[in-house]
Amino acid sequence: MNQPIEHASGIAEQLHLEESATFNRHVIDYIQRAAATGLYEIRGLGAKRRLPHFDDLVFLGASLSRYPLEGYREKCHTRTVLGTRFAKKPIELEIPITIAGMSFGALSANVKEALGRAATEAGTSTTTGDGGMTQEERASSKTLVYQCLPSRYGFNPDDLQKADAIEVVIGQGSKPGGGGMLLGQKINPRVAKMRVLPEGVDQRSASRHPDWTGPDDLTIKIGELRELTDWQKPIYVKFGATRVFHDVKLAVHAGADVIVIDGMQGGTGATQWVFIEHVGIPTLAAVRQAAQALDDMNMRGKVQLIVSGGIRTGADVAKALALGADAVSIGQGVLIALGCNNSSYFQNGAHHSAVADYTALGTAPGNCHHCHTGKCPVGVTTQDEILEQRLQPAVGARHVKNYLRTLTMELTTLARACGKQDVHHLEPEDLVALTVEAAAMAGVPLAGTNWIPGSRVSA
Ligand code: SF4
Repeated sequence: MNQPIEHASGIAEQLHLEESATFNRHVIDYIQRAAATGLYEIRGLGAKRRLPHFDDLVFLGASLSRYPLEGYREKCHTRTVLGTRFAKKPIELEIPITIAGMSFGALSANVKEALGRAATEAGTSTTTGDGGMTQEERASSKTLVYQCLPSRYGFNPDDLQKADAIEVVIGQGSKPGGGGMLLGQKINPRVAKMRVLPEGVDQRSASRHPDWTGPDDLTIKIGELRELTDWQKPIYVKFGATRVFHDVKLAVHAGADVIVIDGMQGGTGATQWVFIEHVGIPTLAAVRQAAQALDDMNMRGKVQLIVSGGIRTGADVAKALALGADAVSIGQGVLIALGCNNSSYFQNGAHHSAVADYTALGTAPGNCHHCHTGKCPVGVTTQDEILEQRLQPAVGARHVKNYLRTLTMELTTLARACGKQDVHHLEPEDLVALTVEAAAMAGVPLAGTNWIPGSRVSA
């Protein structure tokens, strides 16, 4: 009552313009759009909201109680072997960083070739996706993992024989319990032929495998795949992170050589927004549950663990390994290395601005998630014959190889600082958490304490 008049009117003005926390401008936009169209939103990439993540952990570098490795004289090994349980020919990689499964259809044929070239040059593997194996990616990839997905689009025994490992996909981190989507604008004649589907018609992939309804059927499927490939190739089982502790145990019991856990920060070519933001658990929470399940079964070192979903930097890789992963798999980071969300693209020896194309999509470089439209301004997620020329395989491969090299150098830098001669020697004891949530999820102490909130396993 005694406030100066200017102050009181300022508060009144603030209240007048105050945004509701519950019904903020994004929620209002969402409701208005839903009311106008009666449709849910479909988009690409992964969860955009802040989630507990590897950024919430830090390493305890060497000091008096540990000593670090000397960078120039002492080696820090990165060699990674996957599929040692049953396969006669396990996968041998130079680095513990692999390229995640992404479909030809979501990505252009040029991009699939670029990923094969980059993986080969970096000494790692790449992975097919829904829609099958392209000749270009097989020819360019030294080590190619072939996915067996619920849709079976493009899946055939000939390509199975050409693969180096098989990945049975039960689900993805961006949509556990749901199937993929490929909208009609991306189904060109080649994509349609490989999937045996009509051109230009929206396609939804199945959310579960047609010939099984539970873990016992997974055992039968893994047995079939082993017989078909003469027990030569490792069988991976991939699922979106939800009930991780139990799912890992079931997959190991079914005979998996390698478990792939995809956390909710994992990306997608096209999925309902409500799935991307509201289903699954963060990668940080998934990795320790998976490692704990393997420990529980005395399977650590026998069945390998690959973690994916929001892995971006060498620090993320190092933290995932410290928490129990044998390797990581990257999708979105690789797309960004290729040029996703870049303001320009490189074609015919020159850089060209793509800003007008982002604007036409109603977005801007840095904010784009419009992979589902098929009009990717930088030629990454398109089947348009003009747009796809914006990403040439040699250029894309060089950028992805550089990215993988950078991650590997960052990974070994951190491992050396923790005194490890092999990146696989990183362990939970090397980490502390900066938040109570991250401490509870990762099962490491809160920084400055010896307190690990909650139980390590949520069974
Ligand atoms: S730039 Fe292309 S790949 Fe990246 S989000 Fe946009 S449409 Fe998708």
